[in-house]
Amino acid sequence: MKKSDPQEFFPYHGGKLFCEEVDLSEILRKHGSPTYVYSHEGFRSPVERLKTGLSGLPVQICFAMKSNSNPELLKILKQCGIGIDLVSGGEMRIARSVGFSGNQMVFSGVGKLPEEIESALKNDVFSFHVESIPELDLIQEILEARFPPDRRARVALRFNPDVNPKTHPYISTGLRENKFGLEKSEILWVAKNLKNWPRIQIAGLSIHIGSQLVTLAPMKEAFQKLKSCVETFESLSKIELEYVDLGGGLGIRYKNEKPPTIEDYCKLIQKEWSAWIQGRRAATRVFLEPGRLISGNAGVLLTQVQFRKERKSRTFLIVDAAMNDLARPSLYGSYHEIIPLNSALRKGKTASTDIVGPACETADRFASGRKVPVSWKRGEFLALLSCGAYGYSMASNYNSRPRPAEVLVKNKEFFLIRDREKIEPL
Ligand SMILES: *Cc1c(COP(=O)(O)O)cnc(C)c1O
Repeated sequence: MKKSDPQEFFPYHGGKLFCEEVDLSEILRKHGSPTYVYSHEGFRSPVERLKTGLSGLPVQICFAMKSNSNPELLKILKQCGIGIDLVSGGEMRIARSVGFSGNQMVFSGVGKLPEEIESALKNDVFSFHVESIPELDLIQEILEARFPPDRRARVALRFNPDVNPKTHPYISTGLRENKFGLEKSEILWVAKNLKNWPRIQIAGLSIHIGSQLVTLAPMKEAFQKLKSCVETFESLSKIELEYVDLGGGLGIRYKNEKPPTIEDYCKLIQKEWSAWIQGRRAATRVFLEPGRLISGNAGVLLTQVQFRKERKSRTFLIVDAAMNDLARPSLYGSYHEIIPLNSALRKGKTASTDIVGPACETADRFASGRKVPVSWKRGEFLALLSCGAYGYSMASNYNSRPRPAEVLVKNKEFFLIRDREKIEPL
């Protein structure tokens, strides 16, 4: 399989679908269906490729854990030596429990709560990525009210560069009309009024323009706007920034997109930032916040066909996974490749088919009018590919359905890393 392919870590062997060296049907026999399965190497490999591509540049990679927050998977990333991009106090507690230290974390988000800010300060989170001026005021107030006078907080201002990432409107974040970040005029106003926040040390500027970007052009444009913003900020404020954060957002292949490779992405970063960094007086680092790029193609969702329902105009395959287990198709109309565990079922006569879940919503649909073999019927097992990012982390209990189990595969072994949820706590 090609690098960065949905099946890179999920090959067929002897007619059966595997994850690394484990037959997926073995996992289903032991843990039931539906179940998320992740490849250990699937998580590790993109991180190693990023590290290689960025070698020589002073970089800090922070995994956007909202894409997948399973503690056992976070441990793999901890072993790779990277940090965490948080968006809530809950994520901070999970990351702490896995052994990440506060200074390996940056805290993003437009609506941080007072108790989340206080707890992040107590945990010595490296930096707050601030998205509004009232948020700066709130951090200042909390420091004054609850912390010793010499305690200051490091902050990076999130700059909204007004760039169109050309992705789905629900996952574009760097346009002026989006709720995220500060406009350049606001950032420059902060630069001129730093005395308002004596307990805050502005250490960087950050951007994150959207998710599932399949071209580098919007990133390049945003990088250039960021550089110019850094320059103006520093000349107005007379302070030297410690870092720039380039956000996440690089897309992966779900279907036939041709996203830039990790290597192309690293080349762009090297080209835009290496000389810039060397030309600066102060030591400066580059932060990245990839989520999907690391987790997306490392996981699949396994499901079993319950019923085949033939209509004159349409065929429905009703599977045992639903929109509560995997929300992306209902939420964004997103595409997931769906393949059978038994490779013999890949061939033969096809019919235009809707693959749907049992939830009481027409939106509970994983594929619409997809050409799939007519041999797919009750009892067969299927894998929805590219479910490692925004899969389990977006799962809910809609229809009072317990969330699925999660299993990690490493070489020949597999481990249950989260029990199937029980109905009693619900
Ligand atoms: C969601 C998010 C990311 C990660 O986005 P991906 O598309 O998964 O790489 C990075 N930074 C911030 C601030 C985010 O909100």
